[in-house]
Amino acid sequence: MRHKLIAGNWKMHGACADNAALVEALLAAERLSGVDYAVLVPAPYLAQMQTLLTGSSVAWGGQDVSEETKGAFTGEVAASMLREFGCRYTIVGHSERRQRHGESDSLVAAKARTALAYQLTPIVCLGESLAQRESGETAMVVRQQLAAVIETLGLEGLARIVLAYEPIWAIGTGRSATPEQAQEVHALLRHQVAAESQMVGDNLQILYGGSVKAANAVELMTLPDVDGALVGGASLVAQEFLAIGRAAAGAR
Ligand code: PEP
Repeated sequence: MRHKLIAGNWKMHGACADNAALVEALLAAERLSGVDYAVLVPAPYLAQMQTLLTGSSVAWGGQDVSEETKGAFTGEVAASMLREFGCRYTIVGHSERRQRHGESDSLVAAKARTALAYQLTPIVCLGESLAQRESGETAMVVRQQLAAVIETLGLEGLARIVLAYEPIWAIGTGRSATPEQAQEVHALLRHQVAAESQMVGDNLQILYGGSVKAANAVELMTLPDVDGALVGGASLVAQEFLAIGRAAAGAR
C-alpha cells in the first residue's frame, strides 16, 4: 500500500523563531502509521531544519533546485547543496516558478533529473490554469506536462519521484478542486504512468495541492488515487497541518 505524504510548502514565509515553534509542534504530535511528513522551506532555513529535524520522522527539503550542478548561476541552489543540508526532497515545477520565472516543461524535467542524480526525491508539480480548465484542456495540459517528465527521466527515474497535481486556480485561493475533479486527474496521471509500467504506476505517490486545509482534508485524502497533500498556507499553522495528516491516516 502506498504511504501518504503530507508535505508543507512554506513558500517565502518563515523566521527562525517562528520556524522553531512550528517544528516543535510538529515533533510533539503523535506519529501516525502510514503517514510521512515533510517541510519544504526557503533555502536559508535548511540548516535550521537540519539541526531541528535530524533523527526525527519529519523530513525536509527545498522548494526548487537548479538543473545545473555548479558554476556561474547566481541565485540558484545546487542539488549537492540541498543534500549537504540533509534534504530528502525538493519541489520542482511549482506553478509559482513556472509562471514567475517562465519555467518550461523541459526545464522542470531537467531539474527533476538533476535532483535524482543527487539522491533527492523531486516533488514534481503540474496542473492547469483556470482558463485551460474552463476551455476543457485540463487532461491535455497535464498529460503534456507529465510526458516531458517521462521522456526525460525514463522508467527508472519515474519510479523515484513524487508527483503533485496542483490546479493553479486552487493554489492560495481558498478554492480547492472538488473530490471528483481531483480524483479524475489523479487517475488520469496514474494511467499515463501505468501505460509505461503498471508497477511504477501502482507505486507512484501522487499528492494533491491547492487550498488543502483541515476542513476539506478528509474528502480529499480519502480518494483512491490521492496519496497525500502538498500544502501551502495551512502548513504554516501546526494544528491545521497535523489535522491534514490525521485525515490522511484515517484514509488508509
Ligand atoms: C502550494 O503552494 O503548493 C499550495 C498548494 O498552496 P495552498 O495550499 O496555499 O493553496
